[in-house]
Amino acid sequence: MSAQSSQFQQLEKLGEGTYATVYKGRNRATGTLVALKEINLDSEEGTPSTAIREISLMKDLKHPNIINLYDVIHTENKLTLVFEYLDRDLKKYMDIHGNNGALEPAVVKSFMYQLLKGIDFCHQNRVLHRDLKPQNLLTNSKGELKIGDFGLARAFGIPVNTFSSEVVTLWYRAPDVLMGSRNYSTSIDMWSAGCILAEMFIGRPLFPGSSNEDQLMKIFKVMGTPNERTWPGVSRLPNYRPNFDVYIPQDLRSIIPNIDPLALNLLNGLLQMKPENRISASQALQHPWFQEYNLQGVPQQQPDLQHQQQQQQTYPQHPQQQQQQYF
Ligand code: ADP
Ligand code: MG
Repeated sequence: MSAQSSQFQQLEKLGEGTYATVYKGRNRATGTLVALKEINLDSEEGTPSTAIREISLMKDLKHPNIINLYDVIHTENKLTLVFEYLDRDLKKYMDIHGNNGALEPAVVKSFMYQLLKGIDFCHQNRVLHRDLKPQNLLTNSKGELKIGDFGLARAFGIPVNTFSSEVVTLWYRAPDVLMGSRNYSTSIDMWSAGCILAEMFIGRPLFPGSSNEDQLMKIFKVMGTPNERTWPGVSRLPNYRPNFDVYIPQDLRSIIPNIDPLALNLLNGLLQMKPENRISASQALQHPWFQEYNLQGVPQQQPDLQHQQQQQQTYPQHPQQQQQQYF
């Protein structure tokens, strides 16, 4: 917490987020561009020490697919986080480069691989994101994708509603969380990753719910309404209702016609309703859809070994796809 705010020239506003206002900035000494995230602290409650601790931990979370936090400047009633600057978030990228928002399959695969690399690193370090969405993923002209906002959700809690009038999106929130589960684990981020994967293919959000209830119904209409048979324990969740409308699972290909079989298989692993069934980030990185990435750097004499390892792995299947095996 060494830097002074005056080290940075404040440029245009980049966004108004859940907790903070983000400005583009320039380091006066080096000319380096940064993103300055200013969090106003409640003057009555003072600085939440847990928040400071979590944010300080983020400074050690260094990975090519995570936005680098250079510094934390803590003044009386303001926290300024100094991040590396990237050109634009994934939402804006899809608006500009997408075909009605939809990205080329090769771009989807590259972004998804990088997203999973970043998530895996955080989960290995016991950090959950809890608010993964296209607006929190940043891209640059090199085709790199980096996760932003890591640690803030943990420091301040899952955003419910903001102090401003802005509405926090529920679109990437897992069904277990929507039904009131408080056993947050890494699987919460994997659901969001699935929603983002689908959105990159179709160019619009997969489950654009307008309220907690509507969000659940949008999910159930596609994935099927869960019950004690498909998800033992679901009826004990606080927001579960025995009179939920009953829907049967749909084939995701009816919503994402352009998805290839391997990507569909991964998507079904990510969008498992029961959190324990969801594929982990490290498993997802080994998925055959990413074979060309994973073969890079593997010595020529070992392709058989690689092949065998992949054949041994199993992934959760969507109920309707249980007969299909791609590997
Ligand atoms: P909050 O956590 O309050 O939601 P965000 O970190 O999402 O705030 O920032 C709001 C917006 O500002 C983002 O959606 C993105 O468009 C922009 N932004 C945030 N960080 C950066 C960055 N490092 N480089 C470029 N733009 C950024
Ligand atoms: Mg955000």
